[in-house]
Amino acid sequence: MIKKIYKRLFSEKRRMKNRLLFSKLTSFFYFGNTFYCNCCGKSFRKFKSKGTSLKTRPNAECPYCTSLERTRNLLFYIENETPLLKEKLRLLHFAPEWCLLPILKKADNLDYITADINPDYADYQVDIMDIPFPDQSFDYIICAHVLGHVPDEKKAVEELFRVLKNDGVALISTIIDLKNPVTFETEDADTPEKRLRYYSEPDLLRLHGRDFDQRLARCGFKVETINYPAFMSAETRKRFALGDGSRELIFRCTKS
Ligand SMILES: [Zn+2]
Repeated sequence: MIKKIYKRLFSEKRRMKNRLLFSKLTSFFYFGNTFYCNCCGKSFRKFKSKGTSLKTRPNAECPYCTSLERTRNLLFYIENETPLLKEKLRLLHFAPEWCLLPILKKADNLDYITADINPDYADYQVDIMDIPFPDQSFDYIICAHVLGHVPDEKKAVEELFRVLKNDGVALISTIIDLKNPVTFETEDADTPEKRLRYYSEPDLLRLHGRDFDQRLARCGFKVETINYPAFMSAETRKRFALGDGSRELIFRCTKS
């Protein structure tokens, strides 16, 4: 009942901002120095657990900026392995993570465009299966944890390919069942409860398997699979809580 009233009183955007504000205010309770978040630059005695009723990931979410394992990993990759924070580039960011937004928005070198199917979350309301930008519009695209939720995944990847410049780079990630060689989809998953059971999350439409790189490649992309935390020490992986690879692999896609 209280939840319903709260939802009626505040827009989705306001609720998200409230959630961030609440996190910042209560992060004091996580005071400590065991874990460190590279997105907000703060340290804590632990991160918050995150997950579903079926599975919880301990030390997943930053108590201050709400970054997740994959976001901290992606920021490391962006800072160390891409020119995104240095060169004049046009970047399209799908479903922008709220903890990455301020960092990318602050980068004066970037022509930074955010897009989401929900207009509350980005500059442009965009259906990834029908992107309203001309061919070859962007030097870089970031599209993290979107393709598992899209009805026509192939069409979405074709659109990403189309709007990426010929020498551009798309950084794509998704939840992957590392034990499964092929992506799993079933028509029986027609309710949130069933999707949670089949795909591990109630709003996923498929659970990608180890063939995710091939699903990107079938649309023309040349794909490099990057397990970036594998290049770091065990101590760094633990201190920044960079995950087990099931959500953090970066698929670096180019057109040639
Ligand atoms: Zn943080």
